[in-house]
This record gives sequence, structure tokens and C-alpha cells, in this order.
Amino acid sequence: MKETLVKLFKLQNTDREILERKMMIKEIPQKMKELEKIIGDRTELLEEVEQRLKGNHNKELAVERKLQETKISIERHKKQLLTVKTNKEYAALLKEISTEESNIERLEEEMLYLLDETEGVEEEKREEEKTLSKMKERYEKNKAALEEKKERFEREIEIKKKEREQFATEIEGNLLKRYEKIRSLRDGIAVVQIQEGNCGGCFSSIPPQVINEAKRGDKILTCESCGRIIVYLKEDQGQSGE
Ligand SMILES: [Zn+2]
Repeated sequence: MKETLVKLFKLQNTDREILERKMMIKEIPQKMKELEKIIGDRTELLEEVEQRLKGNHNKELAVERKLQETKISIERHKKQLLTVKTNKEYAALLKEISTEESNIERLEEEMLYLLDETEGVEEEKREEEKTLSKMKERYEKNKAALEEKKERFEREIEIKKKEREQFATEIEGNLLKRYEKIRSLRDGIAVVQIQEGNCGGCFSSIPPQVINEAKRGDKILTCESCGRIIVYLKEDQGQSGE
């Protein structure tokens, strides 16, 4: 019986290893999505900076246009000075020109401020592009690593499936059925070790006399709480031979 229990435990170990790999494979798409989201968010950040830069350029163009218009207007008014008939008209024109000249000063100041601001945003854009390109590089590496991992797990699962088929043939039919039944009810784990007096599956305590029986290993014992088969094995037993 002891030997049967060891075989059963080995079968369980292999099934557990298959299960673990399947679960890890299942997590991969989510991890990929998380990586993609990081890149997406960072791309949005760059787009926002680009948008700001575009806004600044538009403001610069508008100020430039106003400057040109005002300069043309000053020229026109200066020419009119030569043709006006009255002092009153002359004074009004002079006042107009003076206002326009102070407008030009104000617009030029505004332009300097805008150019300075644009320089800052351009620097921000360069930094953001650098960061994004580094992140993309890292993303490609991480993505490749995840894909490689997935393929490796799939290969290992194929190997382990063959191993478990072999182990399964060495176990008597009814016991195997019982094993599969418990496994389907208990998240794929039907055989657990007793760990410090507790069931290794649900962690409820195992009565001392049951532990003693398990140590003898001459019959199939189950946990009263979760129904899993409990075994008491020494360190070197029950390894799946990896
Ligand atoms: Zn249990």
C-alpha cells in the first residue's frame, strides 16, 4: 500500500505541475495587456505634449500675423500724415501711431514669451520621445519573454502529460477513479501531505491517531474536512523525478 500511496503522490505532483503551468499560461494574456497599457498611457502623454506644442505654434502664428498687420497699419498712417489737411487730423493720426507702436512692443514681448515656452515644450517632447522609445524596447523584450515562457510551459505540459499517463497506468482502476473524482471537486488537488499535523490542502488539523495511521501507510486515508487523500511521506519520497 505504501508503494501505491507514493505512486499516487507522484501522479498528483505531476498533475499539480501541469496545473501550475496551465494557470501561468492563462495569466499571460493579462500580463501582455498590462504591458500594452503602460505603452498606451505613455503614448497618450507624448500626444498631449505634441498637442501643447501645436497650440503654441498656432499662438506664435497669430501673434506674428498681428505684428505684420500692425506694422503695415503704421506705414499707412505715416503716409497719411503727409496728406492730412488739419492739425486735429494730424494729432489723431499721431496718437493712433503711438498706440500701434506700443502694441508692437507688447506683441514682441508676447512673442518672446511664447518662443521661450515653446522651447520648453520641445525639450519636454524630446524627453518624452526618448522615454517612450526606451519603454517600447523594454516592452518588446518582455513580450518576447512572455511568449517564450508560454511556449516552454506548453512543451513541459506535453512532456508531463505523458509522464502522468505512465504513472496513471500503475494505479489500480478504482483508486484512480476516486483520485480523479476528488481532483474534479477540489481544484485539481486530490492528494496532499500532512504538514505539521495539518491537511496540506485545507489546513484543518488531523487527529493524532490518523497521523499515526498515515505514517504506517497501510491504507488510504482522507481528510475529514476536504475529503482529499492525505499521505505522510518522508523527504525523499514522492518526488516526481525531475
Ligand atoms: Zn483537508
